[in-house]
Amino acid sequence: MGSIQALRGTRDILPEEVGYWQQAETIARQILGRAAYQEIRPPIFERTELFERGIGEATDVVGKEMYTFNDKATPPRSVTLRPEGTAGVVRAFIQNSLYAAGGVQRLWYTGPMFRYENPQAGRQRQFHQLGVEVLGSNDPRADVEVIALATDILKTLGLQNLRLDINSVGAPEDRPRYRQALVDYLMPYKDELDADSQDRLERNPLRILDSKNEGTQKIVEAAPLLIDYLGKESQRHFANVQQLLTDVGIDYQLNPHLVRGLDYYTHTAFEIQSDDLGAQATVCAGGRYDGLVAQLGGPNTPAVGWGLGLERLLLLLQQLQEPPSSIMDLYVVSRGEAAQSQALQLAQKLRHAGFTVELDLSGSAFGKQFKRADRSGAVACLVLGEAEAESQTVNLKWLQSGEQQALSRVALLEMTDELRRQIDSSR
Ligand code: ATP
Ligand code: MG
Repeated sequence: MGSIQALRGTRDILPEEVGYWQQAETIARQILGRAAYQEIRPPIFERTELFERGIGEATDVVGKEMYTFNDKATPPRSVTLRPEGTAGVVRAFIQNSLYAAGGVQRLWYTGPMFRYENPQAGRQRQFHQLGVEVLGSNDPRADVEVIALATDILKTLGLQNLRLDINSVGAPEDRPRYRQALVDYLMPYKDELDADSQDRLERNPLRILDSKNEGTQKIVEAAPLLIDYLGKESQRHFANVQQLLTDVGIDYQLNPHLVRGLDYYTHTAFEIQSDDLGAQATVCAGGRYDGLVAQLGGPNTPAVGWGLGLERLLLLLQQLQEPPSSIMDLYVVSRGEAAQSQALQLAQKLRHAGFTVELDLSGSAFGKQFKRADRSGAVACLVLGEAEAESQTVNLKWLQSGEQQALSRVALLEMTDELRRQIDSSR
């Protein structure tokens, strides 16, 4: 029978690379924890409507990329594997009245996301994001805090050659005048726009600025800029964000073409890109979404956040360093029925005492077990044969020097501090 392959666009994260993932998560958890962010774990599937309202039906994600199906409920009910994290977090914020505590909620999440896309390097159908959301503050310091956290995480992981682009998309009341100017500019090019963009010209012209179509992008290059249509308040918020970025020492460049085409996105929009990623250059993208909580039925709540693509982050980490691996202290080899049972017990006791211990299960000749001990990365080997089983002893063999020492097992378990020191100093 043929073997079953994983679906296109999905990948197994194998033990040899899982160290990178753990490293990224550990650093992020530490940095976010120190800034008073709390982890939240919403479900991986939700009612389809949440994403239609929370991301927008006119977007590629909702229009073309969602894994949507009816589950077994009657009457039929449409559910969707989450394509991103913000909508679920905001739903949880509203449903659990997290706003009732007053003040600011600082949340982060990580996990798999699902989009039916064209798989290529840095682009998968099941991929992983780590994201933060700050709910309940319109202070520009919140915008800069989240940006600073993203750069801290990336820098602490050792990444370089990163670029931060920022822009402001203003407030909803800034947009009617801009929308008109944009439509006036685009109308003469109508026939040259891609089909989707033609469609959006009346319904949601701002989304055309997001288009990935090259012909459309050329036309859009010379279009009027939203940044020139910002009202006083929006200008002030954006100026504040820039000043604060400078104050905390974060380099950025203004990119007036960076937009989010939906009404609940407000003010700051930003992206962090790397030159070392090829076509899929954006590692982290985010911004303010002051209108989203209300859009999803909650109280008016300003908010700002970002999502970071972990596969892309991992591609960068892999270019930098060998995979971090776990460190083995001891390798236990044994032969003969009594010795094998006692070896199991000894391994267990040493693990309880804090050692990392691998137990050889093969029952093969000692020579073969020693070879595996060498490959395991352990510093020392514990040997139990028939003689040791009989006398309740164990042979401690240092793998580098070959030195050996016969010990009673009671004595070994009484000298764990000394053993720890010896192991650490001979690594
Ligand atoms: P892109 O322009 O690369 O398609 P996007 O605008 O769709 O990105 P967001 O929805 O803002 O991306 O998601 C935030 C981050 O998640 C991206 O910057 C990227 O690092 C990562 N990401 C998005 N889609 C994928 C995917 N299909 N595979 C891997 N990572 C992804
Ligand atoms: Mg995309």
